[in-house]
Amino acid sequence: MAGVWIIAENREQTLELLNIACELAADIGTRVAAFLSQDHERVQDYIDCGADEVLVLPPLASDQSIDAYIPIIAEEAKTGDPDLMLLPATMRGKEMAARIAARLDTGLCSCCTALTYDEGSKSPVMERLAHGGAAVQKVTCTTRPAMATIPPRTFEPATPKEDRHGQIRELPAPPPSEVKVLEKKMKERVAKDITEARIIVCAGRGIEKNEDLAFIRQLADALGGEVACTRPIAEEYHWLPEELCIGLSGAQVKPDLYLGIGVSGQVQHLTGIRNAKVIAAVNKDENAPIFRAADFGIVGDLYDVVPKLIAELKK
Ligand SMILES: Cc1cc2nc3c(=O)[nH]c(=O)nc-3n(C[C@H](O)[C@H](O)[C@H](O)COP(=O)(O)OP(=O)(O)OC[C@H]3O[C@@H](n4cnc5c(N)ncnc54)[C@H](O)[C@@H]3O)c2cc1C
Repeated sequence: MAGVWIIAENREQTLELLNIACELAADIGTRVAAFLSQDHERVQDYIDCGADEVLVLPPLASDQSIDAYIPIIAEEAKTGDPDLMLLPATMRGKEMAARIAARLDTGLCSCCTALTYDEGSKSPVMERLAHGGAAVQKVTCTTRPAMATIPPRTFEPATPKEDRHGQIRELPAPPPSEVKVLEKKMKERVAKDITEARIIVCAGRGIEKNEDLAFIRQLADALGGEVACTRPIAEEYHWLPEELCIGLSGAQVKPDLYLGIGVSGQVQHLTGIRNAKVIAAVNKDENAPIFRAADFGIVGDLYDVVPKLIAELKK
């Protein structure tokens, strides 16, 4: 069967992966297959957005977790022989990808941020950040299928095309799992999802005390944005929840505007904002690395600059 296969947890992830999958499939000269669990209404949606085949996974028993699908997907891959398998680089996606790769005894590029097809070697070339975001590593997979996990929002979602037709195939029920789900509890979110924010004001260690975050919030409110932070603010000082930390060990964000206040701009932080459309910064040190990444910068004391910005924005 070959092809580029997508295994995602929801519609949003599937459409993003379909976009890059269609591009690669056209270059490879193959087809696109998308796995779907339970929600049959989305079958035509996925076909319209580029899937040539939708493989429908049956519902799980109440004591089964999504892991139960791993043997079914691995068996399908053994017979279907895909060129490439793509999963989202979410916690669950990364775990599933690793376990499927182990079953197929193949290579996996984790947190891949760009994918092309090399006509010469006839293999996908995957890119990922290395050395804390300071370098980009190119990865080719010498085993088949090549596998990659892709962080959410790396690619734009695929859009529907006209006159699309595709096949639908129901997959067999998963075998009983060795791991039983006893109880499910939603993880409580203590902060907004900053990966969705269009405008982000990021607090760095230039802020002297917890109470001073109040005017960072005022600035974010004046801009209609959300507050985020660097790692020290979340993990050393515990002034803001870890979910708001941006960077290598935090969130990768893609806002229209990122405004760093008292942020030095170390590479581990910049890794998280490389997809921001506009980067602006306020820092009292004109040599701060953030200014090398920034489109706009104000060299000055944040305690002087931020109140002025708020006053201007409120006019
Ligand atoms: C493996 C690893 C993973 C990491 N992951 C992350 C991550 O995901 N996210 C992250 O953020 N960091 C991460 N880090 C930490 C990172 O290396 C930096 O230490 C961190 O980003 C620095 O945070 P900061 O800019 O707030 O603080 P600092 O580097 O201390 O910078 C503070 C800045 O504020 C400026 N300043 C001070 N006072 C004022 C003032 N009054 N007005 C204006 N400017 C002022 C200073 O000039 C300075 O540039 C990681 C590190 C490692 C080793």
